[in-house]
Amino acid sequence: MSETTDTACGPLPPADRALGLYCDADHTIHLPYSRLAESAGEANEPAFLATLAHEYGHHVQALTGVFTEAGHALSDATVSRENEVGRRLELQATCFAGMFFDAARDTGLGDRASGPAVAVQDFAHWSGVESHGGTQLQQRWATIGFDGGSLAECDTWNVPAADIGGAEQDRGSG
Ligand SMILES: [Zn+2]
Repeated sequence: MSETTDTACGPLPPADRALGLYCDADHTIHLPYSRLAESAGEANEPAFLATLAHEYGHHVQALTGVFTEAGHALSDATVSRENEVGRRLELQATCFAGMFFDAARDTGLGDRASGPAVAVQDFAHWSGVESHGGTQLQQRWATIGFDGGSLAECDTWNVPAADIGGAEQDRGSG
């Protein structure tokens, strides 16, 4: 985790807009520790893991072509359509994060039996309305992934807009 704010995708967004960033151009997760510590508390491991798992979800999206497809959907899009595509992308990354914590239940991460479950709960604290869909939806999609979710169940692209709509605003991520 580097503190640098320069990335191959340009400068990191301001701290109040994103904790971190997944850069598609060089497949790198940027997650400055200072931002995590300030947002979630210095020793808040579940929150750090939740953020890292979400960013890794973006990596999976990049490898599987989801980013490319989203890019096509965004060309000539209106602002509201842009926000919708963004929320589908972000909520899917969070669903993938939930799947990761499901798989990690019986690994070292699960030493403190509740570890992965606590990390999933952390999504209840997340996110901007427009970009990430709000806290309730973040929590819901993380839980879908965590409760034995599959890639098919994490398909945020084929659910009604209401399932990826906005909610109240809280802590942002990237
Ligand atoms: Zn994100």
